[in-house]
Amino acid sequence: MAVQLRNVRKSFGTVEVIHDVSMDIAAGEFAVFVGPSGCGKSTLLRTIAGLEDTSSGQISIEEQDVTWTEPAKRGVAMVFQSYALYPHLSVYENMAFSLRLRRASKREIEEKVLEAAAILRLEEQLHKKPSQLSGGQRQRVAIGRAIVRQPKVFLFDEPLSNLDAELRVQMRLELARLHKQIGATMIYVTHDQVEAMTLADKIFVLKGGIVQQSGRPLDLYRDPDNRFVAGFIGSPA
Ligand code: ADP
Ligand code: MG
Repeated sequence: MAVQLRNVRKSFGTVEVIHDVSMDIAAGEFAVFVGPSGCGKSTLLRTIAGLEDTSSGQISIEEQDVTWTEPAKRGVAMVFQSYALYPHLSVYENMAFSLRLRRASKREIEEKVLEAAAILRLEEQLHKKPSQLSGGQRQRVAIGRAIVRQPKVFLFDEPLSNLDAELRVQMRLELARLHKQIGATMIYVTHDQVEAMTLADKIFVLKGGIVQQSGRPLDLYRDPDNRFVAGFIGSPA
């Protein structure tokens, strides 16, 4: 398994917001956590990234227990919303940033940034600043910053939520293409059922910090386990 959670719980102070979550995500799978605002999607993703400690339970990435491993050593890369770009740096330097921190050679940096730029069709934009880009291009740079790190697992937290509706549809198609092209394991968080249904190989429906049901989109749609899943993604009764 690419990612495995076993009985993960997370509390903030005395309030438990993730209750005993276990899940398996296979290598190359596009997994989507979907559920209403406040159900714990971001918290769960951040525990996988190591940005939050778990209160109990175990997290493995490619069969390695990373429960107490620092974020940079987990082999994951998180894609934030496009406004998290460095405004004073060019597109090239935005994508090179983490590699420079890692003291990669100039040649390695160039190779990886150009490769990511080709995948994301950003070759013509490399010298520009984020403010000179469209919303969609900015979002692609944010994804490029993750690609250059060649992570085992990509983590996306509602990356399209601040784009307009038309662009969201376009970026959704691009994400599907990206997943096909690089074949990496991806975990994607959204509150948007349509995004979840169209992107996911496997959906995890969350409510109140509990996985209500997981499985292939069509199976959940046709055969929801409970009323919540039915109401949220199931076919109209
Ligand atoms: P989602 O991403 O699904 O909207 P979150 O994971 O952000 O949900 O939040 C889940 C719950 O945990 C919410 O009730 C939220 O208020 C709470 N929460 C999230 N982060 C913190 C924090 N740092 N401190 C206290 N409570 C938090
Ligand atoms: Mg969230």
